[in-house]
Amino acid sequence: MDKKANKCASTGIEITNDKGSVIFDCPGCGKHKVIRSYNARQTSAQYVCSECGFVGPN
Ligand SMILES: [Zn+2]
Repeated sequence: MDKKANKCASTGIEITNDKGSVIFDCPGCGKHKVIRSYNARQTSAQYVCSECGFVGPN
């Protein structure tokens, strides 16, 4: 995994300088790291796990 390119799963925005962003394990498979930017959380933008297809927010 390339930690230099953490991008929001919803918007594709790089979260390097996004202090409100979160990274967490996918609720569906527990393996994939889901990244959500502050903006995506504020707007409740959907994300899809690229590993198992889980759709959130949750
Ligand atoms: Zn998953």
